[in-house]
Amino acid sequence: MQGLMMDYQLTLRPILERAYKLFPKREIVTKVGPAMHRYTYADLYQRTGQLAHALEKLGVKAGDRVGTLAWNTYRHLELYFGIPCMGAVCHTLNLRLPPDQLIYIINHAADKVIFVDQTLLPLLEKIAAHLKTVEHFVVMTNTPLQTSLPNALSYEELLAAEPTEYNWPDLPENTAAAMCYTSGTTGDPKGVLYSHRSCYLHAMSVCFGDGLGLTSSDIMMPVVPMFHVLAWGLPYAATMLGAVQVFPGPHMTPRDLVELIQAEKITITGGVPTLWLGILNLLESERYDLSSLRSMVVGGSAAPQSLIEGFQKKHNVRVVHAWGMTETSPLGTVCNLKREMFDLPEEEQYHIRAKQGIPSPCVELRAVDEAGKEVQWDGKAMGELQVRGPWVASNYYNDDRSVGRFEGGWFRTGDVVTIDEEGYIQIVDRTKDLVKSGGEWISTVELESAIMGHPGVLEATVIAVPHPKWQERPLALVVPRPNAEPPSKESIYAHIAPHFAKWQLPNDILFVESIPKTSVGKFDKKVIREQYKDYALPERA
Ligand code: ADP
Repeated sequence: MQGLMMDYQLTLRPILERAYKLFPKREIVTKVGPAMHRYTYADLYQRTGQLAHALEKLGVKAGDRVGTLAWNTYRHLELYFGIPCMGAVCHTLNLRLPPDQLIYIINHAADKVIFVDQTLLPLLEKIAAHLKTVEHFVVMTNTPLQTSLPNALSYEELLAAEPTEYNWPDLPENTAAAMCYTSGTTGDPKGVLYSHRSCYLHAMSVCFGDGLGLTSSDIMMPVVPMFHVLAWGLPYAATMLGAVQVFPGPHMTPRDLVELIQAEKITITGGVPTLWLGILNLLESERYDLSSLRSMVVGGSAAPQSLIEGFQKKHNVRVVHAWGMTETSPLGTVCNLKREMFDLPEEEQYHIRAKQGIPSPCVELRAVDEAGKEVQWDGKAMGELQVRGPWVASNYYNDDRSVGRFEGGWFRTGDVVTIDEEGYIQIVDRTKDLVKSGGEWISTVELESAIMGHPGVLEATVIAVPHPKWQERPLALVVPRPNAEPPSKESIYAHIAPHFAKWQLPNDILFVESIPKTSVGKFDKKVIREQYKDYALPERA
């Protein structure tokens, strides 16, 4: 027997319309140069209508891919809604990718139009000749166009010529809405194609109290770029609720960000650990009022326990650890303590909060060993994390590399994890980053977290270096904290030794000025491994 409920389609249109009807005066704020651009959800709605008309005039049809090469701004938010709500696909382009990867992605997705921030024009001008499918470039600026791009148009002129009311189509919920490529740490990037339904449900999960707990009273600032997994769904979730949104634009230094938090009274924000480490370090020497901040979401790579503890103890800011991937929209797990854990000793609570958490409702996960068997939930047995759920990809976009990654209704993440008795996962490593030492595995993530707990360390990464006897051994690179007493190798070994078996300790620790980062701010282990592949490791006594 069928249930007798409406077959209501979960699309982005009602999200946009609700914000317009219920919160027309709520602000959307963007840092543009030294000034702030401020407008409201009513403005967003009306300009999104103009944008949809403009897209139609440019010949954009249902299902066409429309690229965005842009910082976190109100215009990018207009594209987030205008493109999918008129039936096309919003394809966010990672502005930090090398030119050959950008060319690959744009051609692979067959983008028809690209919207580009004025400041990013040089990037696009350099590759324009290699783009096979792009018919128009639309430059997002208020000033007269100055570009070598062929067929360039002005965003503001396009919008100004159009009416604000648009007759939004009723789309089936499985219509493609947005597209994002993985950052291609191995080989060419792979495309993930989100549907309206997956964006809608994922946005709801961001709002769950046990998710990221966003509410309509929040002032939300996505520090995570809008080209990185749709800024973790934060803009869709904030619009769903009518929360105030604050966009940092290209102003992403730790000082820019704390100034914004202080001035705009941000209550919730999200970003990768390297950014929060930078802010924590800045706060050692400069004072800012961060008292508005109730939640700082961290994900994308493992958050060291010292980061979570540092913000809580020194600045009373709650850091919430979450795990996800481009393929999982991204929210897969969130680390909130279960009620029964509230009375645990503080140290144990921090230990749990440094794990990646339990699966969000609607996401199922399991860890599977090399023999294909599910591993025990004992916090020790390691296995590859596999996930499934309504906002998990079922395939890559037109890509043979889907083979083997999506099996039996599960997505194989390539992350190695343990799961404890309470269901909290801990990422041990990415399969390809583990150090395979004499038949045993060493977690680079655990070593990094421990080293970053040393008070003299700003950043640390650990990689596998080939070794004649053990196959691979760990090497640590450490950036000392500026304005602090430089750490010695011995003191770092002494700091981490209690937490590891002797054979797990790095063979060497090198002090460096900086660590190469990926396009989304993670330690770029591929590049670092290449740099140190011939490094002659000393034996450790
Ligand atoms: P990229 O391949 O560019 O890093 P993603 O942003 O999709 O693309 O990265 C997903 C990967 O990031 C995961 O597979 C995992 O290895 C890592 N990751 C994400 N969040 C965390 C976290 N909280 N702790 C540890 N690793 C994480």
